[in-house]
Formats: sequence, structure tokens, C-alpha cells
Amino acid sequence: MTSALMPNYQRLDIAFEHGEGPYLYAADGRRYLDFGAGVAVTALGHCHPHLVEVLKEQADRLWHCSNLYRIPGQERLAERLAEASFADAALFCNSGAEAIECGLKLVRKYHDAAGDPGRYRVITCTGAFHGRTLATIAAGGSPKHLAGFDPVVDGFDQVPFGNLNKVRAAITGETAAILVEPIQGEGGINPATAEFLRGLRAAADEYGLLLFFDEVQCGLGRTGRLFAHEWAGVAPDVMALAKGLGGGFPVGACLAAGKAAGALTPGSHGSTFGGNPLAMAVGNAVLDVVLADGFLEHVRAVGASFREKLAGLAGKHPRVLGEVRGVGLMLGLKCVVANATVVRRLMDNGLLSVPAADNVVRLLPPLIVGEDEIDEAVAIIDQSCAELAETAT
Ligand SMILES: *Cc1c(COP(=O)(O)O)cnc(C)c1O
Repeated sequence: MTSALMPNYQRLDIAFEHGEGPYLYAADGRRYLDFGAGVAVTALGHCHPHLVEVLKEQADRLWHCSNLYRIPGQERLAERLAEASFADAALFCNSGAEAIECGLKLVRKYHDAAGDPGRYRVITCTGAFHGRTLATIAAGGSPKHLAGFDPVVDGFDQVPFGNLNKVRAAITGETAAILVEPIQGEGGINPATAEFLRGLRAAADEYGLLLFFDEVQCGLGRTGRLFAHEWAGVAPDVMALAKGLGGGFPVGACLAAGKAAGALTPGSHGSTFGGNPLAMAVGNAVLDVVLADGFLEHVRAVGASFREKLAGLAGKHPRVLGEVRGVGLMLGLKCVVANATVVRRLMDNGLLSVPAADNVVRLLPPLIVGEDEIDEAVAIIDQSCAELAETAT
């Protein structure tokens, strides 16, 4: 492998040359069913004709001009996201970590403007993942991600995921916000219960805190609703998006409602690349597809069918698989054998997946998959489990 690259990634020894829909093609010509989707990013599959067309058209017109000027594509995408959500305004950036960082700055600024600058701390949950910048590793609180990067950025208090009593007990006069993933992705596909999310909303309202949802992975249709929190009927004040929003083009967004939407006053935050015309063209094209009639119903139907078939496989291969977790097309297989072994075997048999914490294998197919591809994946998982059960002692 290339030695001029920094050694921060543990990559599998395979390179892809092109992609089409749910398939990736390796340099040796081999075809893989891509149920990792670049970690929930290529939500419409590879080279979706509408995205390719819009990207090419925009490439011929204007790539970048900076946020010194109006960018109509931003205005349009913000308006569409606001229209389809709890939010009143959006700010665009280039990644999930930046969207979280923006939200973290926003919650501090919000309380500062309200005359309460001492409120800066954010309650987060165990098992969380919010990105890899200094502030977002502090928010995530994973010892693995924090190791070697002391001092830890101050301002985060972590409580057990799902424990409302602990959340309430952690609230002090310095608390500004509660940050949570409605469904933890990296943590192992752990959905928060509707009851927990409703309890967070009530606690936030009671203490004047902002409720901040990280939907970087679970948002944009992944669960069969445009946003995962819709399943619980609970709206946040602030929300981070990225991954699926650009369908493979780097783009992130921080959305906010009410007073929070106006908290980042002129000059208080910014990004050179954030929301540039190329990114906005693609983001709007993604929404064209995701917001079209029947699209989310399709995700719900295919997701339910996939989940049922996976539950069947878990029952059939108890020496390899445990429970099935998740919602829509954000699914996880708790493994009995090492998850890395399962990911590797699936890949050898032509199916790409993504490992997660808690010994889980994530299945995050593009949202455009049909029953045929679900069946193809199920057959590969079935065969792989049979092979692994033979070698497992
Ligand atoms: C991927 C992810 C992030 C970080 O996004 P990057 O684009 O890698 O910075 C943050 N939160 C969640 C829930 C994620 O899944």
C-alpha cells in the first residue's frame, strides 16, 4: 500500500474503479454489492443519473465563489430543508464534524446572547460518535478516540445512553444543551427509544436547554422518514446533517429553529468552502429524489423486508449472529464471532458492509435498493454465516 499516506486508516486491501447503483467494481473487474454505501453516504447509490447530470451541468457554470456573495443554491436548499423539517434556517459546511462543531458553537452563542454566557456545557451519551475534531471527540467521549490528544476540550458531560434520570441529574446551571444521535451509528446501531427522546425534549424545555440531534448518519431518509427523530414525534432545536445529504459530494449542514436559528450573527462563524455552488447543486439534486412521492415509503418497505429476512438468518445461524437492530435501511447485526471476521467474509463473498462498536456489522445499503438486491445480500450473508459457523468452535 502507498507509503506516502499517513497511517491513520486501517484499510482493506482493495480499490474500486467505478460504481453503478448499488454496485462497486474493483480494479480486477470483480463486482461488489455495496451495503456500506461509503458509511451511509451514497444514499442514492453510485453515479445516480440525476446527480451526475446536475453535477456536470453545474461544473460547466460555476464551482466556487465564497460566502462573500449570495449563493442561490444555498438559499434554495436551506428553504427546502426548513420546509421539510422543524427548522427555520440552515448553515452549510463540508462534513459531519463541522456540522456538529457549528451546532456546538451555536448553543454557546445562543445562551451568551440570552445573557447567560456561563451556560456552555453539553450533555452527551455513552456510545456516541460526533466526529474527529478536538471538540467532537470530546463530545463523543470515546477513550479510543481521545487517547493521545490531551487535554480534552472542556464542556462535555457524558451520561449513559437512554438513561433519562442520569440526564436530568447531570443538568446544572452551566448546561447549555443536550446532544444525542436518535440512532447511534458508530456505537453499534442503537436506536434511542421514543420515550427517551420525548424525555429529553421535556427536560430541555423545563431547564431552557437546546435539544441538539446528530442526524449525520440516521438523517436524510435512511430510516424511512426524512429525519429519524420524526419516528418519536420529537423535534430538536438544532440538528446536524452530512453523509447522505450530498450523496457522495462532501456537504454538511447545521439546522436550527426559533431563536437558535438566529444565534450565529454576522461574522460569528463561517467556512470558505461551505455551501459552494457545486455542493449545493448536488444537495438540491439529492432532495429532488428523496422528497419525491413514494421514495420514503420505498425505504420503509424494503427496510422492513430486509430486517425480517435478517432476523431469519440470525435464527438460522446462532453461532455467528445475534440480534438484528435498527430502523429502515440503517440496520445492524450483532455478531457472536468477531465482527471484523464477518465483514471480511462478506466482502470475500461480494458484499460490502461496515463494522461498528459493540461487535456489530452495519448494513447501510443505498436507499434505492430493490428486493432483488436485498435477496442477493441475504444469500451472501447466509452463505458467509454457514462458512463461518463451520470454522467457529
Ligand atoms: C460520520 C458521523 C459524524 C462525523 O462526520 P464526518 O463527515 O466524518 O466528520 C458525526 N456524527 C455522526 C452520527 C456520524 O455518523
